[in-house]
Amino acid sequence: MEKENLIKKIKKLKRKREAIIIAHVYQRDEIQKIADFTGDSLFLSRVAMNTKAKVILFCGVRFMAETAAVLNPDKIVLIPEKNAGCPLADTITPSKLKEKKREYPEARVVSYVNSSAEIKAESDLCCTSANAIEVVNSLKEEQILFVPDKNLGRFVASHTDKDVILWDGFCYVHHLCIKAEDIKEMKIKHPRAKVIVHPECPEEIINMADFIGSTSQMADYVSKSNSQEFIVGTEIGMLFNLKFHNPEKRFYPASEKAICEDMKLTTLEKIASSLEKMEYQVKVPKKIEIKAKKSLNKMLEIKHENKR
Ligand code: SF4
Repeated sequence: MEKENLIKKIKKLKRKREAIIIAHVYQRDEIQKIADFTGDSLFLSRVAMNTKAKVILFCGVRFMAETAAVLNPDKIVLIPEKNAGCPLADTITPSKLKEKKREYPEARVVSYVNSSAEIKAESDLCCTSANAIEVVNSLKEEQILFVPDKNLGRFVASHTDKDVILWDGFCYVHHLCIKAEDIKEMKIKHPRAKVIVHPECPEEIINMADFIGSTSQMADYVSKSNSQEFIVGTEIGMLFNLKFHNPEKRFYPASEKAICEDMKLTTLEKIASSLEKMEYQVKVPKKIEIKAKKSLNKMLEIKHENKR
């Protein structure tokens, strides 16, 4: 079907189902264009909490749709591509986490939202890349087991006096696809550009940046900055969002290879099919939902940080 007709079909189905479409900023451009809201996973979950829509179609990866389902147990949460997972979230399982907890019985467990509902349920508290430092510093305990992203954990450790134990997980997009050489090359090509990077990047990249922050913090930084050019060290989908909100500024990907394959699995065709067939519904077992919600709510009580 032609793209225009497909978009018309999606709009019609959306009305029929009383649905909203929310899309992560790493999604394909054409999906971000048709979404009712775009942003990071937590912002989107908050949107989902405040909507009157009966159906939430989450264009992202599974852990994001799960978070929306945990926070909105009375709504139908759909994910258009059931195989959209996250290799970072997959580096940890509840049994491995329980084992680590036994090794460090005094530690409090802080899990990055990029983890499964089961891991959130096994944690004391959740955090996002925007509020991770605040979350860790809010705890009175000295020892923190930070899971699953070691780069974000290391970034947090450099901003706190606490003893942060790292999990050996990483996001391949940020850890492997963006190299120091790429940034050096881009800086030569665009000497006036500010380098903005995500804290999931390794230390070497972090040390080269003018600004380090979550996708929502990057967006804020760019809109407030007097600079006109930016080298963006995160998944390339973010460039659509930055260009859309700042059409007068110029953005260059730190690496064209920074692509999350799982994020790109969602297509317009799959969105139409999802609304038509009402699949794939994301459901979290009640026992896990209650515990995961507790960890998420504790974080939400600390500070409403993400804005977009
Ligand atoms: S960008 Fe990285 S953390 Fe995000 S979904 Fe893809 S693999 Fe997971």
